[in-house]
Amino acid sequence: MRNYLLLTPGPLSTSQTVREAMLQDWCTWDKDYNEGIVTPIRKGLLAISGLSEDEYTTVLLQGSGTYCVEATIGATVKSSDKLLILANGAYGERMAEIARYYHIDHVLVSLHETELITGEVARRALEANPGITHLSMVHSETTTGLLNSIEEVADVIRGRDITFIVDAMSSFGGVPIDMKALGIDFLVSSANKCIQGVPGFGFIIAKREKLMACKGIARSLSLDIYAQWETMEKGGGKWRFTSPTHVVRAFFQAMKELNEEGGIAARYERYKQNHRTLVDGMRALGFKTLLPDASQGPIITSFLYPSADFNFVAFYEALKQKGFVIYPGKISDADTFRIGNIGDVFPKDMEKLLENIAGLSPDLIKGAGE
Ligand SMILES: *Cc1c(COP(=O)(O)O)cnc(C)c1O
Repeated sequence: MRNYLLLTPGPLSTSQTVREAMLQDWCTWDKDYNEGIVTPIRKGLLAISGLSEDEYTTVLLQGSGTYCVEATIGATVKSSDKLLILANGAYGERMAEIARYYHIDHVLVSLHETELITGEVARRALEANPGITHLSMVHSETTTGLLNSIEEVADVIRGRDITFIVDAMSSFGGVPIDMKALGIDFLVSSANKCIQGVPGFGFIIAKREKLMACKGIARSLSLDIYAQWETMEKGGGKWRFTSPTHVVRAFFQAMKELNEEGGIAARYERYKQNHRTLVDGMRALGFKTLLPDASQGPIITSFLYPSADFNFVAFYEALKQKGFVIYPGKISDADTFRIGNIGDVFPKDMEKLLENIAGLSPDLIKGAGE
């Protein structure tokens, strides 16, 4: 059934049962869909996050993850507000691009792609820029695989009356996040990352009172998360515009499988094991990671080219022939490639990948270990 294993940050390899869940058609206004699938997903997202429906709520929105980040920024930051963006990679920088499109008053702190966002970074930025009302950052920066300390930033902004927006696209479902303890007001993620669904929609988990304050702020009709929420809430799970029914049904199955696996804590352990197996094996073959272990997250790993004349395309094609699809690098000042640890992927798959890399013709991995 499987063409090849995707070792990529999403879309990623899904289980056969998630793919099979798409073999039926659903009517968007029928209760079988809205009450039977959409509403349990909304409740389930809060349940796996340990959040109560009194204080938190969810919005599902069509499109890829960026649509949801854009929708959240565009519907929360008013023209009288000021947004601080802490960035250390392409996804953090994309938030600033969104702010520019919306003419939102913002400050962008751009760190080097291998530098962590810490509490100290947040503290200095807030001191240098008075009047900040909103702070946004990425948790797992998929550009490199680095895991930023949302805990330290949360400590710095606690008590300051700043709305905290976190792009947890590639971490939610795969890394435990205590939204309430961290005071996160809006957490954004999507169907095709650590929940292990297929692409087509994203979701926002929001502090209820903060979302209620978004009424009338959005500058985009289809990306108005308040209006989307209101329709879902009043319509018992109804989406405003055509919903990606098959994708939503697959997500419902993916959430069931996440719970069967033992929830987010168990999935986190598996991803960490995948990552450990991969990194230990690659190092044994002579490859080096871009990041030191201290800033590396369990989601995706960047490896340096083993030599200046390393031919990534040939390496990629050779691995694809063996059934593994890896990912190119995304940073500007080092030659890297990336291997993802998430999806329906297990330590034994990593071992098979490593055996295949070890078995490649020596000129394809020339330089490794020298
Ligand atoms: C995947 C991802 C996104 C969203 O990307 P899309 O291509 O729009 O799905 C945003 N932020 C991070 C950190 C991601 O990993």
